[in-house]
Amino acid sequence: MKIALLPGDGIGPEIVREAVRVLDRLRHDGLPIETETAPIGGAGHDAAGHPLPKATLDLAQAADAVLLGAVGGPKYDTLPRELRPEQGILGIRKAMGLFANLRPAILYPELAAASTLKPEVVAGLDLMILRELTGDIYFGQPRGRRRNAAGDDEGFDTMLYSVPEIERIARVGFETARRRSHKLCSVDKANVLDTSILWREVVTRVGRDFPDVALSHMYVDNAAMQLVRAPKQFDVIVTGNIFGDILSDEASMLAGSIGMLPSASLDANRKGLYEPIHGSAPDIAGQDKANPLATILSLGMMFRYTFARADVADRIEAAVRRVLAQGHRTGDIAMPGERSIGTRAMGDAVAAAL
Ligand code: NAD
Repeated sequence: MKIALLPGDGIGPEIVREAVRVLDRLRHDGLPIETETAPIGGAGHDAAGHPLPKATLDLAQAADAVLLGAVGGPKYDTLPRELRPEQGILGIRKAMGLFANLRPAILYPELAAASTLKPEVVAGLDLMILRELTGDIYFGQPRGRRRNAAGDDEGFDTMLYSVPEIERIARVGFETARRRSHKLCSVDKANVLDTSILWREVVTRVGRDFPDVALSHMYVDNAAMQLVRAPKQFDVIVTGNIFGDILSDEASMLAGSIGMLPSASLDANRKGLYEPIHGSAPDIAGQDKANPLATILSLGMMFRYTFARADVADRIEAAVRRVLAQGHRTGDIAMPGERSIGTRAMGDAVAAAL
């Protein structure tokens, strides 16, 4: 089990350090885990002049799985776009062919009060958003700026999906639904966008191979509303890159804190990059305040999806549930007046629970 560790910037090194303690524990218990660390994002720029140094990409490609902290920070905001930290993430996703982004939004009963929604709306929430990650308007060409006939400057991007791109993400969607409650909701904007009309046709066609999965379709604007109105109607949602970007952030707030939510980005062979959904949180970096649980839960997903070790994933998730039940809270998930602990102490608690 070769794991590349890419801590990145801001709180990245602090939260990855706590995840490494989980790996140490599992190695101690006999799992053949090997790790190697490399810089990415701003740290990559500092070390090698590029947000995705070649040596980092080589390490990631040679590994079975990658654990990433987060990238970005004010220090790098003035760099030209191709050198900005987020190019490190976009670049590694593209280079590794990581087209399927799985983001669970789970509300642990102990944290029901941390959600901004009423407990009865969100208690017991357990949904999975599957976002296509390497296509759509974020990558479509042409894009850029130009002067139009009227002499005004304009900016433009291209929303674009090919049939094979839609087919492969749809398959992951149906397979994911099969492992859960056999319900899949495909989200698009087929009332307005040609790309979405094709998306809906292809998803429907792929669905004929999965007669045991109930497929539904929803427009993205309605989905945004339904997610806050009655989120428990959903189980697995599959959608394109830009809609998934927005809906998964919305869903993350249902669960209380972005400090709790892991993610997986998989290629066609289930090799994957695992990372918390939050960013580098420069406002709390270096202060022992960051919640490491999203990163630790990302490791859980790594064992479930890349290493096919559901037993180890269950063990990690049970340890996290246990520390929450014991009342341990970092600042982001503590209720007003509740005592909170730091990053390191939360890592201690998880290691002890394991
Ligand atoms: P952010 O997710 O870093 O932070 C948003 C808020 O949530 C902040 O108040 C932060 O303190 C808090 N927060 C985030 N993670 C937390 C944790 N684990 N524990 C406790 N609190 C936590 O988003 P932002 O402030 O919009 O962006 C900061 C930087 O991160 C930017 O440079 C941005 O580009 C980058 N970013 C990176 C990624 C990534 O690496 N995948 C994702 C989003 C943003």
